[in-house]
Amino acid sequence: MTATPPLDVVSLTQALLRADSVTPARGAVFDVLEEALAGIGFAVDRFTAGEAPDGPVENLLATRGGGGRHLAFAGHVDVVPPGEGWTDSPWAGSERGGLLYGRGAVDMKGAVAAFAAAAAAETGGALSLLITGDEEGPATYGTVALIARMAERGIAPDWCLVGEPTSTQRLGDMMKIGRRGSVNIWVTVPGRQGHVAYPHLADNPIPKLIAILGEVDAIVLDTGNRWFQPSNIEVTDIAVGNPAHNVIPAKAEARLSIRFNDEQSGAALIERIRAVAQRHAPEAIVTGRISGEAFLTRPGALSTAIAAAIEAQTGLVPELSTTGGTSDARFLSRLCPTVEFGLLNATMHKVDEAVAIDDLRTLTAIYADLIRRAAA
Ligand SMILES: [Zn+2]
Repeated sequence: MTATPPLDVVSLTQALLRADSVTPARGAVFDVLEEALAGIGFAVDRFTAGEAPDGPVENLLATRGGGGRHLAFAGHVDVVPPGEGWTDSPWAGSERGGLLYGRGAVDMKGAVAAFAAAAAAETGGALSLLITGDEEGPATYGTVALIARMAERGIAPDWCLVGEPTSTQRLGDMMKIGRRGSVNIWVTVPGRQGHVAYPHLADNPIPKLIAILGEVDAIVLDTGNRWFQPSNIEVTDIAVGNPAHNVIPAKAEARLSIRFNDEQSGAALIERIRAVAQRHAPEAIVTGRISGEAFLTRPGALSTAIAAAIEAQTGLVPELSTTGGTSDARFLSRLCPTVEFGLLNATMHKVDEAVAIDDLRTLTAIYADLIRRAAA
């Protein structure tokens, strides 16, 4: 590789923060990133995927170098809506007391800028950036479309680093090697409406739904394992909507939310709930929507390299965690070992989201160290 010009992580973060990019992100924020990446030798492929209602979505795939181990960095430049009550404009990228403020500062424009700055400093190895404009939204045509684009172009990363904010108290204290899966399930028990004084002429669905939920609530799905906490079922809503005291209602519904580890699958959980429901009410209707399957990248060369880079730059030994909600890592983990590591998550999605400038510089150093280790 020829030498590349330096890229300042603070000014790039600021430039990204100044582009309003509430999900789905379009245009300006990608222009900023494209210019920065093109300037340090990346071939930048911008494309739009999908149609309404979940699209179109803008994505960016940047590649540089070849041969040896291919390290991919995955991230997003869309952000959640800022909400009310910011001290400054959420798009000002203002600096106060060693912090940069703005929507997306930690989730995750700061990490995108840090990887770009790291790639400017470390020119070896094969690198790519997989950047979507729709991670905070439906995520139907974001990372999934980037994976399809890579397949079309024959790009196959060996390691994938996702720059989500995983640190909790100090930069480097935690990375994520997996995530639980999530599924929502709706149980509807039909009955026959009638007068409460004539119950033999009606069929009350409520006792059946209660019996179903009683059995569901008693299920122990698993006891967790070395890497995951136990899977958990929560009843999140019960709805009958019957305004009359003298009417037996025509139906009763409940909604469940299950967060599950790698011993379960979304489809099998829906089937299991359906079997319970139909034992108490054969006519019960059970539908489910899987938000994401669980994934785990067992500790190995990638997590070891990231931990070594973190320790070399901060002195911290990161915890390997699988906590938190779903992330786009669930898609990438089907391609290659995938680990998430990024900034502090304390202010993400909050008013006055902010990143410490020191953390931006340290994260850049950690990512640069990882690029060296990947290329070695
Ligand atoms: Zn994020």
